Amino acid sequence: MERRTVMRIKLGDYCGVCETLKPKGYHLGEVFICEGCEDKMVRTEPEDSDYEQYVSSLKGIWDGLMK
Ligand SMILES: [Zn+2]
Repeated sequence: MERRTVMRIKLGDYCGVCETLKPKGYHLGEVFICEGCEDKMVRTEPEDSDYEQYVSSLKGIWDGLMK
């Protein structure tokens, strides 16, 4: 399993979680995650209604990274 930990700042990209063009964020391998989603993921608790959505979004991202 190849593990890539490249993180670089880029000016604007499509967030892999909210699928919106955002000016700020970072890359997890090939996937861009915006500041807002990162913040939300850090704060989201399992009892929040958003949690399921984030977990499934992240699962898709991790599945992509692990291929
Ligand atoms: Zn986002």
